[in-house]
Amino acid sequence: MENVVKNFNLIKQEIIGKKKIKLVAVTKTFPISHILPVINEGHTDFGENKVQEAMEKWISIKKDFPKINLHLIGKLQTNKVKFVLPLFDYIHSLDNLKLASKIADEQIKKNFKPKIFIQVNIGDEAQKGGIEISNLENFYKRCIEEFKLNIIGLMCIPPFDNDSNPYFIKMRELSENLGLKDISMGMSDDYMDAIKQGSTFIRIGSKIFGARS
Ligand SMILES: *Cc1c(COP(=O)(O)O)cnc(C)c1O
Repeated sequence: MENVVKNFNLIKQEIIGKKKIKLVAVTKTFPISHILPVINEGHTDFGENKVQEAMEKWISIKKDFPKINLHLIGKLQTNKVKFVLPLFDYIHSLDNLKLASKIADEQIKKNFKPKIFIQVNIGDEAQKGGIEISNLENFYKRCIEEFKLNIIGLMCIPPFDNDSNPYFIKMRELSENLGLKDISMGMSDDYMDAIKQGSTFIRIGSKIFGARS
């Protein structure tokens, strides 16, 4: 079995002293038994990409550990928003107006405002989610003015098999243009580059929990 605590602590060592970096431990596909050692280390931020799986795994754990912050990092369907609030404290994957409007309604109903990242299609890939760069400023304005969302930053998943650096640099530029201070970027293979380019939320799965089947 993977030594998750050792893996976790190695990454914590690497980011020690970088106070602004939040490590989101991505736990998708892994059972709570595999995750619990990291919870017991006192870690508070965990990421899931599927709402159903997150409900099964985290509703009861969050009652036992009220300090835990859950991050939704995967595609969110509008019909699932009602389950997302208030289970998830952060949504990293806002990428369309219909979803923005749905979250707006739901956050009033639940009296709970999640912290939200706008996902940017930074590589301009047809198959990938995210707002196009050319539409970003307009989308951001509508999110705050019309929908009163708590947008804290931008998020991206850069193209695979590529050097992520140019995408990370672009993300930082977009983020500065909008005056946003948080950026969710960097995964197991590229988080050190992401940090160099100004990431504040790194999302790491396999490097802590091992390969997913
Ligand atoms: C799975 C996933 C991660 C973590 O990926 P690893 O390469 O295992 O670190 C990060 N972000 C998103 C959006 C993911 O779906």
